[in-house]
Amino acid sequence: MTALPSPRGKLTENRNLNDLTWLRVGGPADYLFQPADIEDLQTFLRDLPTEVPVFPMGVGSNLIVRDGGLRAVVIRLGRGFNSISVEGNTVTAGASALDAHVARKAADGGVDLTFLRTIPGSVGGAVRMNAGCYGSYTADVLRKATIVTRQGEVVDLTTEDLNFRYRQSDLPESAVLVSATFEGPSGDPDELHARMAAQLKKRDETQPTKDRSAGSTFRNPAGFSSTGREDDVHDLKAWKVIDDAGMRGATRGGAQMSPKHSNFLINTGDASAADLEGLGEEVRKKVYETSGITLEWEIMRVGDPLTE
Ligand SMILES: Cc1cc2nc3c(=O)[nH]c(=O)nc-3n(C[C@H](O)[C@H](O)[C@H](O)COP(=O)(O)OP(=O)(O)OC[C@H]3O[C@@H](n4cnc5c(N)ncnc54)[C@H](O)[C@@H]3O)c2cc1C
Repeated sequence: MTALPSPRGKLTENRNLNDLTWLRVGGPADYLFQPADIEDLQTFLRDLPTEVPVFPMGVGSNLIVRDGGLRAVVIRLGRGFNSISVEGNTVTAGASALDAHVARKAADGGVDLTFLRTIPGSVGGAVRMNAGCYGSYTADVLRKATIVTRQGEVVDLTTEDLNFRYRQSDLPESAVLVSATFEGPSGDPDELHARMAAQLKKRDETQPTKDRSAGSTFRNPAGFSSTGREDDVHDLKAWKVIDDAGMRGATRGGAQMSPKHSNFLINTGDASAADLEGLGEEVRKKVYETSGITLEWEIMRVGDPLTE
């Protein structure tokens, strides 16, 4: 195995990723690197042999890591990257800050980033996935994203560079997003907090928020999103075509399409990544057979299946 640089942060060999994902599945990463700070990350990436693959992860709320794990150095940002500051209508947050914390701190300062409150990911994942809900998307409020490239350089990106689409953006390959600057509309702090409380309540009523899931499993085949692009029309809901295919509540091993919301794939306790992905593929097949619609995964699946 190639020798790796010795960082100041924590580098762990053969680290299981199951406890780092919301679905609680996933085999080991060759290495897990938790950089101490941005300089540590830069030096590590600069000195890491170019042939070693790198996979940045957030808090794993949109990921199935397969049971055989990931042949890569997984980079997970922690405390050195979680600052949040509010100045006027501008909010700057480190990539490991949780969306919910950013929304709350912004609201304290009179800035409306309320849509982030109910998304359980981190800022890194929000930018990468153009996370959004209730008609607002990361693309609407992002002004600047700072990355460290695979070569260890710090680069600022604009929204144009990121080319946001429905649940997607163009981050350069293997780049690690380290911070993002948002600009939100002004709002009364009490009203913003009240709105967030209402949104949380609504979520709990309609989605299996207490179960282990990764949010929406499939992209909506066709709702309107506010990124304003022509290809961004998503009127037809994935849950509807899944219901029509009779797959609400379907199970495979410990995996289940949630009886509460049929586009949520849940780990009922002892699911493997193979159960979860296999059930998802079964749903795609049944939906295709019943409606001719090919569902596209929203959950990212990464890594290798387990080989016997
Ligand atoms: C109960 C529940 C509800 C959800 N509701 C919503 C919703 O309403 N709207 C919505 O959009 N999503 C929703 N999601 C999905 C998920 O929370 C979002 O996609 C979130 O943005 C993922 O962030 P994360 O930090 O968990 O990223 P991860 O899942 O860890 O990673 C997702 C992707 O982002 C990349 N990434 C993460 N951090 C970085 C970084 N620092 N640098 C470079 N790349 C990075 C990863 O490589 C990966 O490609 C929900 C999930 C759950 C479990």
